[in-house]
Amino acid sequence: MRPFALDHAASTAEALQFLDDGATAIAGGTNLVDLMKLQIATPERLVSLRRSGLGDIAQDGEGLRIGALVTNADCAADMQVRENWPLLAKAILAGASPQLRNRATTGGNLCQRTRCGYFYDTSQACNKRDPGSGCAAREGFNRIHAVLGTSDACIATYPGDMAVAMLALEAVVLTQGPSGEREIPIAQFHLPPGDDPARDNVLEAGELITAVRLPAPTGGVQIYRKVRDRASYAFALVSVAVDLTMNEGRIARCALAFGSLGTVPWRDPAVEQVLIGEAPSSALFAKAAEVLLKDAQGFGANDFKIPLAARALAATLNDATRTGKA
Ligand SMILES: Cc1cc2nc3c(=O)[nH]c(=O)nc-3n(C[C@H](O)[C@H](O)[C@H](O)COP(=O)(O)OP(=O)(O)OC[C@H]3O[C@@H](n4cnc5c(N)ncnc54)[C@H](O)[C@@H]3O)c2cc1C
Ligand code: SF4
Repeated sequence: MRPFALDHAASTAEALQFLDDGATAIAGGTNLVDLMKLQIATPERLVSLRRSGLGDIAQDGEGLRIGALVTNADCAADMQVRENWPLLAKAILAGASPQLRNRATTGGNLCQRTRCGYFYDTSQACNKRDPGSGCAAREGFNRIHAVLGTSDACIATYPGDMAVAMLALEAVVLTQGPSGEREIPIAQFHLPPGDDPARDNVLEAGELITAVRLPAPTGGVQIYRKVRDRASYAFALVSVAVDLTMNEGRIARCALAFGSLGTVPWRDPAVEQVLIGEAPSSALFAKAAEVLLKDAQGFGANDFKIPLAARALAATLNDATRTGKA
């Protein structure tokens, strides 16, 4: 690891000042420090956000405001979250390990980088790490890679769980930066790779996530299904988040988001439109999967994700519509 300076911001304003002076933000450090050890990230100056006063969960109108420094463990344990937005607690608890969740934060989780093995191997071509060098994954070992939203430049997934639940819950990311405050719907926060895979999200230089706002709870059935190689401590191969309400035997409202399937947390309103107003059936779930996966493209080792996503969607919808419980 290269030498670096570390400052502690005592307030959000101070953190913004350090960022303006060229520092890189560090929160839990569970992703950034690994990247620094491998010299994939080489910041000369870090500013720790841990004392910057962004660690509260509070009511925000009819919704909830989760500070950027709230740890994943505290967020998942919060009674308001567990009662009104259980999808979020379930998704967080499906991720990482207790030790990591005790350190990892809301803001850091949103900004975590891909787990593509070639991104972490500096001897390999990777447009995300080294723009213009190529993409070793396209012809390489791409079992964990995306089948939706890919580009010629990059096929990596955004790997996290929390953001997938937040997408189904229609969260808003609150930021402060040199251009002032912004409220960014989470559906617009992560960027598909396009021609510029080095950029994972819409944050500008010097911009800080201050909080995430969840809108008022829907009261729907909320389920997070994560399919992975091990039952714990593994990233998703495919995940499905659903928030669904039934009325008189029909699906009255449905929000669906998918993780590790696309290059960004994935939501497709056309899939929800297939389901809304209909009585649940295997044929209906198959039709929804067909719409979801109509543009899916595998790269060899990850071809299995296409039928896997169809099965995971059907199983999740089956649970949500039949039991009415997670
Ligand atoms: C072994 C292992 C297994 C894991 N398994 C899972 C899993 O199954 N599911 C899952 O979802 N995640 C998993 N993770 C990822 C983990 O959840 C993330 O590393 C963590 O959430 C990142 O949060 P952090 O606070 O530690 O971020 P940091 O490492 O401190 O920062 C990450 C990035 O975010 C930026 N950043 C941090 N806070 C802010 C802010 N407020 N505003 C702007 N930028 C900010 C930093 O500059 C940095 O670029 C795993 C990690 C490890 C090491
Ligand atoms: S998939 Fe993306 S992150 Fe992985 S090697 Fe290709 S460019 Fe790099």
